Amino acid sequence: MAQEVRGVIAPGKDEPVRIETIVVPDPGPGEAVVSIQACGVCHTDLHYKQGGISDDYPFLLGHEAAGVVESVGAGVTDVAPGDFVILNWRAVCGKCRACLRGRPWYCFDTHNAEQKMTLASTGQELSPALGIGAFAEKTLVAAGQCTKVDPGVSAQVAGLLGCGVMAGIGAAINTGNVGRGDTVAVIGCGGVGDAAIAGAHLAGAAKVIAVDIDDRKLETARSMGATHTVNSRGTDPVEAVRELTGGFGADVVIEAVGRPETYRQAFYARDLAGTVVLVGVPTPEMKLELPLLDVFGRGGSLKSSWYGDCLPSRDFPMLVDLHLQGRLDLDKFVTETIGLDEVEKAFERMHTGDVLRSVVVL
Ligand SMILES: [Zn+2]
Ligand SMILES: [Zn+2]
Repeated sequence: MAQEVRGVIAPGKDEPVRIETIVVPDPGPGEAVVSIQACGVCHTDLHYKQGGISDDYPFLLGHEAAGVVESVGAGVTDVAPGDFVILNWRAVCGKCRACLRGRPWYCFDTHNAEQKMTLASTGQELSPALGIGAFAEKTLVAAGQCTKVDPGVSAQVAGLLGCGVMAGIGAAINTGNVGRGDTVAVIGCGGVGDAAIAGAHLAGAAKVIAVDIDDRKLETARSMGATHTVNSRGTDPVEAVRELTGGFGADVVIEAVGRPETYRQAFYARDLAGTVVLVGVPTPEMKLELPLLDVFGRGGSLKSSWYGDCLPSRDFPMLVDLHLQGRLDLDKFVTETIGLDEVEKAFERMHTGDVLRSVVVL
């Protein structure tokens, strides 16, 4: 039987979010209903509310979530009721050209639940953020969006691996391929940048240089594993990174802002034949200008990182295990826990910059 639960809806462009009763259908073939325990508040949720992603209002917000599988539809064998799972927004298809060539982290045909959740009051179909919609007591997803992990981890920490923290760690260890002894610079020390720092530290980087314009963020970056910090408000970050790397530049520079000016900094702060990883998300009007001769002459690779190029089934359980063993402290990413009715306030706090992640606990 379909169930009625509470969920946080963005009703229209720039309108405040509000709690509504939503209808969650029983899972159909290949689907699962998950009882949500925690869900982080991400910038992407704010972008949905502001109309920056699409106009398919009303949105059911929330996508960095962990919970327990309540029921599964026909044909679902990978997860079962009672499993503790992290939700992912790239359930791989196994059939597209990327999957068939053994590179499922690039899957070009990721999928979500077929059935729609609806508003109880009007019957209107909801658009779940990133195909998840987890600021809700329960949500309906494709079973492939559920990744089973060790239930010993707290839900508030686990949920963050579903998006921002995975994007940052993956930018370092998957896309950037950071290895022992590498020098790494990370430009932009919000949640994703800090996760990239933690990832570079985990991978054995010899030097991890954090670059930001906010001293408080640089302080946090140190606690995540940065060995050096540069405040680029008063210092040229390219010069500073070169100085800290014997005059050469870093092996891997991770751009976690997503702006042309910070991308140029990343491009020139890297050593010859080094790697730039773009994980910050630009907006449609941004353009990049670089001398093509420099692109050629400096060699190396310029990469983009989708969701940290993660493979949820491979990466989520591994990172949870490292966290439980004390080798990757994910607790530091949770600044505060809040209730379902405080999402609007959490959006406001994002602008002040004192919050790495607010996490809704249900
Ligand atoms: Zn997110
Ligand atoms: Zn695929």
